[in-house]
Amino acid sequence: MPELPEIASRAKELNKELAGSRIESLEILQPRCLNIPVEKFERALKGARIGEVTHHGKWILGNTDRGWLLLNMGMGGEVLLTTPGSLPKKYRALIKFEDQRWLAINFWWFGYLHFAEKDRLSEHPMVGKLGVNALDISKADLREMLSGQRKKVKSILLDQSQLAGIGNAYIHDILFLAKIHPLRVANTLSSEELDHLFKSIHKGLETSLKKGGAFYELNIYGKPGGFKQEDILIGYREGKPCPVCGTPILKIKTGGTSSFICPHCQEAISHEEVREMKIQFISIL
Ligand SMILES: [Zn+2]
Repeated sequence: MPELPEIASRAKELNKELAGSRIESLEILQPRCLNIPVEKFERALKGARIGEVTHHGKWILGNTDRGWLLLNMGMGGEVLLTTPGSLPKKYRALIKFEDQRWLAINFWWFGYLHFAEKDRLSEHPMVGKLGVNALDISKADLREMLSGQRKKVKSILLDQSQLAGIGNAYIHDILFLAKIHPLRVANTLSSEELDHLFKSIHKGLETSLKKGGAFYELNIYGKPGGFKQEDILIGYREGKPCPVCGTPILKIKTGGTSSFICPHCQEAISHEEVREMKIQFISIL
């Protein structure tokens, strides 16, 4: 599933290639990926000129002079810059530009291709609810967000309405880099741990972003991302040695999903909680 490093890379590539280009026509093969009827969607964007392409979380945002072209790749897929003579075998939608370049969009399972009117992006039922981009949040805001909540830190970091862009691919390494157990309660994180987490979000996402995203996703030119399997520190590496201490990596259940942790580097409870438990224990005695 594409996350911030992949989506930000696609947005950058699309912006480089398509800013200033005019859409000549659109061909939608999977109307249920749209948020409005096909005819209305085509009418809205036919002739539109792309301004800038950016991203918010896992959404690619194409700002045009007619409104917003919004793309969410869902579980994954391809956005390929092609020509009429080099179309891929499978695609769910084609966006044809005046200069004979075609954008072929394919979803592996299901994705969204939406339209939002110019000043109404904030009213879009999904994009409008997104929290700040994970790489754009300030240290102070991250601190405030986490220290005010009694939820588990992992579930907050994955909650797109609080922080946009982190998913199940990068979360394990981010928490490992920060030496924070996924089940830690957010408001028990120490000031030092919050600092580590801020840095780890950047390190965890930027390492892949600099390489154009993960190897299992293609860029718009059809080349895989440069962030390889061996660049992953502990995610999906159950039983392999921790790169820091050598302890075998564990796969544990955390809520409805799995987490990968080093049981030595990431302790399940904070030192503060251990101290409190000791005090309680002593007072019982
Ligand atoms: Zn370790």
